[in-house]
Amino acid sequence: MPRGTEDPVSSPAGLPAGGKAPITPAPPRRGREFLHTPGPTNIPDRILNAMHRAAVDFSGPDFIALSTSCFDDLKGLFGTAGEVFILTSSGHGGWEASIVNLLEAGDTVLAPETGRFSKAWAAMAAAHGIAIETIPSDWRRAIDPDAVTDALRADTAGRIKAVLAVHVETATGVVSDIPAIRAAIDAAGHPALLLVDAIASLGTVPLPMDAWGVDVAICASQKGLMMPPGLGFTAVGQKALEASARCGTPRDYWSWQARGGPEYYRRFCGTAPEHMMFALRAAIDMLHEEGLDNTFARHARLAEAVRRAVTVWSETGSLDFNVVRPGERAQSLTVVRTPEGIDGETVRTIARERFGVSIGGGLSDLKGRVFRIGHMGDLNEPMILGALGGIEAALRTIGVAHDSGLAAAVGYLAETAPGAGENVLAG
Ligand SMILES: *Cc1c(COP(=O)(O)O)cnc(C)c1O
Repeated sequence: MPRGTEDPVSSPAGLPAGGKAPITPAPPRRGREFLHTPGPTNIPDRILNAMHRAAVDFSGPDFIALSTSCFDDLKGLFGTAGEVFILTSSGHGGWEASIVNLLEAGDTVLAPETGRFSKAWAAMAAAHGIAIETIPSDWRRAIDPDAVTDALRADTAGRIKAVLAVHVETATGVVSDIPAIRAAIDAAGHPALLLVDAIASLGTVPLPMDAWGVDVAICASQKGLMMPPGLGFTAVGQKALEASARCGTPRDYWSWQARGGPEYYRRFCGTAPEHMMFALRAAIDMLHEEGLDNTFARHARLAEAVRRAVTVWSETGSLDFNVVRPGERAQSLTVVRTPEGIDGETVRTIARERFGVSIGGGLSDLKGRVFRIGHMGDLNEPMILGALGGIEAALRTIGVAHDSGLAAAVGYLAETAPGAGENVLAG
């Protein structure tokens, strides 16, 4: 940026660059601010209201019935006949649970790189004394199943105990093909377990665990489940449950054995996160009422509207999709690269402070290089159009998008709306 044109948006809202007290304070903003970070996501009023109630006796029959129904229904959401464990934790807690229940210090895992989250999960395993093998990536491509087969074939000593795959990598916007990774493990004839980080995919795309041969899926409450942050989940198939019974790593809070035992109190290992469970009950009800297939179709359609907009911005404004291949772009978020000299953080700050739209910034290696548009959870057409409009206004403010991506998104949504093509004026 040339001298003398310091960007006022890099200061706190309302303050000119340099932080001096403003002469005229900025008025408070009115109306709804739009949340399009890739987690947390929008929390529907119904879920918020479900939490707005007094605490209850967590060992009473009503709460036990409610939480039992959640445990049962979660098996359906994950598509497993195994067990789902609910942790009072972030998604990171789910990662740790998957590590300490299945792996021992000195074991090796294959953790193909997809971006910041795959690296952080691997780093957590390394902190537990696990050796990490990886398949490097430029953060613009999905996991290569052939490379998984090659790495497992090379493991003639059978040191690799598990493959750690991130389904939707929220740092890069890439979705990896989980059935293809399962097939790659099987093609190598290797016994490694398949552990999947489904934190940004559950509730946005199908993940039928048992049918896909996934041994453990990890999730968290604040993304596709539309809830506040605070619950982690591990869904564990039969093979992984058996492996965990043999695993000698010391554990207690995270222990699947302890949580799966007869004592109800141990299911949550302490006081049940009651209000989060009220929220979870409402979230599952909402997903059931919509019908999961409809939920997935809604995400696919809204994601395509975003991609239509980004395509126009790329053609006329030197922006670009971070994910190179169209088939590897996730339905949960879209990651957009900014041209050389344009900091993705500037787009983000202007979108938030001037146009009321919060989006994600670049993480670690992509810091400043991208911005991330979250589109998972409780979203509809006007929300996505509002977000795209705010982002487009920010892009125009800094002069990097010229033709209207928003118009392309509107056109796509009109063409694909239910009843599109019917003559709505007739009759
Ligand atoms: C959000 C996210 C995480 C981290 O979840 P926390 O609840 O913040 O611990 C991990 N992996 C992926 C793919 C995510 O999207």
